[in-house]
Amino acid sequence: MSEKNITVRFAPSPTGYLHLGHVYSALLNYRFAKVRGGHFLLRIEDIDTARSRPEYVEGIYADLAWLGLEWEQPVRRQSEHFPVYQAALDKLEAMGLLYPCFCSRRDIRAEIRRSGFAPHGPEGPLYPGICRNISVAERLAKKAEDAPFAVRLNLQKCIDYLRAENKWPLTWQEDRFGFVTADPAALGDVVLARKETPGSYHLAVTLDDHLQGVTHIIRGEDLRHTTHIHRLMQALLDYHVPHYSHHDLLAGPDGKRFAKRDQSATIRSLRERGLSPAEVIRMTGLDPA
Ligand code: GLU
Repeated sequence: MSEKNITVRFAPSPTGYLHLGHVYSALLNYRFAKVRGGHFLLRIEDIDTARSRPEYVEGIYADLAWLGLEWEQPVRRQSEHFPVYQAALDKLEAMGLLYPCFCSRRDIRAEIRRSGFAPHGPEGPLYPGICRNISVAERLAKKAEDAPFAVRLNLQKCIDYLRAENKWPLTWQEDRFGFVTADPAALGDVVLARKETPGSYHLAVTLDDHLQGVTHIIRGEDLRHTTHIHRLMQALLDYHVPHYSHHDLLAGPDGKRFAKRDQSATIRSLRERGLSPAEVIRMTGLDPA
């Protein structure tokens, strides 16, 4: 691959103002592309329209520009592409890999208690499969009642499908670890869409990275476990496989990692306190040069 084709992205969700952890991640991506003459993309991951806010989108643009970053246009905003995510869902549905799940959180907790089914994944207890095998008639009846539902990926069917296609096991290349073997079952039957939203983080992120020709994914360590599912989606949908690098998460003086709730660490508040872009960059541990 020519270095000129190297494409990276910074993909924040506009559910709060950017903090120092975001700046660190954005700069690692930006500099990786710049020194190679590659492409740096900014993507607004606003698929969760209930939690995303226009002022946070504007805040992302303003903070990154203030720090001196430049990104290619147009900026992809996920909320403008629901039909594309729906088409990918339709494809997975036609492959027989999805099922509607009508469980509430409370149903799931009760079933876990009742059955003693307790495997935990990186995001908590795995879905115990209540709706995996309900009959077509039952599904139709629930939908006719207009009940809320999530669309889940049937992990075992996905693995069986890839085995039959001679595409299993799956690996990806990861900085610091070399080739990693995907273990998507460790996350269970993940949610790929909801009744009102045809797409979830896992679906939108893999589809967009493919569509935008992202070659290198540089993001926080907190998302490393999701790569197991993203690699599975790439195999099911015949997408290219980027190279992955998951960086350490920045922590504040109290040793806790920065989060959106820490107002004092937002770039906006540091700007308002009169810090310069170079001073803010230095706070991430990176050289401002
Ligand atoms: N939108 C995600 C976030 O803000 C990042 C997605 C990714 O880098 O894969 O945490």
